[in-house]
Amino acid sequence: MNIHEYQAKELLAKFGVPVPAGFSAMSVEEAVAASEKLPGPLYVVKAQIHAGGRGKGKFKELGPDAKGGVRLAKTADDVRAAATDMLGNTLVTIQTGDAGKQVNRLYVTDGVDIAKEFYLALLVNRATGRVSMVASTEGGMDIETVAHDTPEKIHAIDIDQATGFQPHHGRAVAAALELKGDLAKQAANVASKLYDAFMGTDAEQIEVNPLAVTEDNKLLVLDAKVAFDGNALFRHKDLLALRDETEEDPAELEASKYDLAYIKLDGDIGCMVNGAGLAMATMDIIKLNGMFPANFLDVGGGANKEKVTAAFKIILSDPAVKGILVNIFGGIMRCDIIAEGIVAAAKEVNLSVPLVVRLEGTNVEKGKEILASSGLAIVPANDLGDAAKKIVAEVQKAA
Ligand code: ADP
Ligand code: MG
Repeated sequence: MNIHEYQAKELLAKFGVPVPAGFSAMSVEEAVAASEKLPGPLYVVKAQIHAGGRGKGKFKELGPDAKGGVRLAKTADDVRAAATDMLGNTLVTIQTGDAGKQVNRLYVTDGVDIAKEFYLALLVNRATGRVSMVASTEGGMDIETVAHDTPEKIHAIDIDQATGFQPHHGRAVAAALELKGDLAKQAANVASKLYDAFMGTDAEQIEVNPLAVTEDNKLLVLDAKVAFDGNALFRHKDLLALRDETEEDPAELEASKYDLAYIKLDGDIGCMVNGAGLAMATMDIIKLNGMFPANFLDVGGGANKEKVTAAFKIILSDPAVKGILVNIFGGIMRCDIIAEGIVAAAKEVNLSVPLVVRLEGTNVEKGKEILASSGLAIVPANDLGDAAKKIVAEVQKAA
């Protein structure tokens, strides 16, 4: 689960991480009022969307010469102008895709005089099973570019969670950032506090870019991206409140309510499958037959009528879907129960596109009988290859 920059900074501040003061705002007036609470003389007005690259981003409505989603302001009028430009408009960055994201919230924060920008991130290193701190002197820019062009400028420091963050980790981070004296101490302190925040929230990622040294030699977190491990959120009810559903894909959000694993893709064939492996195989075989899947959808082991109906509705809410392939293995769940669910769901949603169903497993004959006698135009298939061929043929016939 991702959160906004303003939420990330409020959270990190609770763990003792140094961040500039700031307030979030959802209207132009709120933004101006926020700046009046800050000391000045420099303010920064920042678009809050779940994507990075805002500074270099472009607003669709404002044309190519307008400034991006991070703007410096010196007066209340500047803040007003920046907020008016951004709120309600669509920001396109390298991370949003061409569609961009609508800006509904701003963060108005203290502007600082930056002497140097660094990069510091924490993530889980799956190869070592440890938390890894990734540090680079090349902050403020796209870290993927740094990794590609100058990999020697990226340092990874692994921390064994059994012994936790040690002073030598702090010294290693400071050395990686080429800091000495008091700034080295500050770097070690920031790293240690970020580690506390990472462990304390079961985070998946904390990315600080930039971590800035100010002209008066203070180390400050100027931008933070925090993502939590969804599987650990049950332990953090307070963090769940930070979820911004408007930032999430509506179909994926609906699917999560029914515990369905759904990911939207670019093709034409909607897929409903149980088990992630079978779902992957189904997508592969659709491609092999010349078409592309419109989604990945795993209804899980306990697929009942309610889940199947919800899954049908989610698939059909995608206007790109020209046909549906159901591929279910009835193991724990018997095929006849699944067939009943499919028939009921197809009737309820007024199915308007071709539907091919491949069932296999316990009570498969009974299941096929239920499909055949349903009165619906369901095309039965015998195996995976047969199913893929049939759905492609049906869709082409209907076109
Ligand atoms: P993004 O990564 O989405 O572009 P950032 O928050 O990193 O957004 O902002 C982009 C750049 O704007 C930073 O690299 C920094 O140079 C500048 N910036 C961001 N926040 C501040 C601030 N509070 N004071 C001064 N400059 C800032
Ligand atoms: Mg940034």
